[in-house]
Amino acid sequence: MTTVAQRLNEVKSTLPATGVELVAVSKFHPAETIREAYDAGHRCFGESRAQELQQKYDILPHDIEWHFIGHLQTNKVKYIIPYVAMIQSVDTPRILDEIERQAARVERVVDCLLEVHVAQEDTKYGFSPQECIDFLSTLNAGAYPHVRFRGIMGMASNTDDESRVQAEFAQLKQLFDTIRTGAMAQNTHFDTLSMGMSHDYRMAVEHGSTMVRIGTTIFGEREY
Ligand SMILES: *Cc1c(COP(=O)(O)O)cnc(C)c1O
Repeated sequence: MTTVAQRLNEVKSTLPATGVELVAVSKFHPAETIREAYDAGHRCFGESRAQELQQKYDILPHDIEWHFIGHLQTNKVKYIIPYVAMIQSVDTPRILDEIERQAARVERVVDCLLEVHVAQEDTKYGFSPQECIDFLSTLNAGAYPHVRFRGIMGMASNTDDESRVQAEFAQLKQLFDTIRTGAMAQNTHFDTLSMGMSHDYRMAVEHGSTMVRIGTTIFGEREY
């Protein structure tokens, strides 16, 4: 049996020395397990449910950087806004409106990624690539003063067909570059391309990912 700390270090050893951030996806794992990674020096964790995040936030050290990566319901935004470091799963303009409203109330500026849907599965949330471009290019300056647009987040199809996964990561990278040099060219904060999970992060990194979200490889299988 390997420990969480060992698996965390193994994953880190497969990432480039700089330029790729590791979000350890701790959803469905108990606080004690997160604590093991924390004690090994890791500070950046990803959760997908607001209530679960709130419970973990309450009992774990407050220098943890919490990333929200799941579908976020409008009525849950207010619970996580006071402390969440980044919301990676902004999937509609409407949720962004609520993030803006709640962040303004607590006088925070919150890092956000727009979730973009490129995979074949139709269950996935997110903007289409064109919707993402359209949304960002028609954004009024000053429309979201409490949101910092940091980049995009995407998932590849869950398939053994490597060429399809490669093509989807390439598509996300191309979209990221198009936006960074186009609609967001004036925004120096727009620097994050979040893609890659346990089974496909090596390919994602090859395609220019700057942030990987890895759960199972570090923490083991989740029990839902
Ligand atoms: C659960 C989840 C992950 C982590 O998946 P693993 O396969 O366990 O590495 C990454 N990103 C998102 C959006 C997730 O929901």
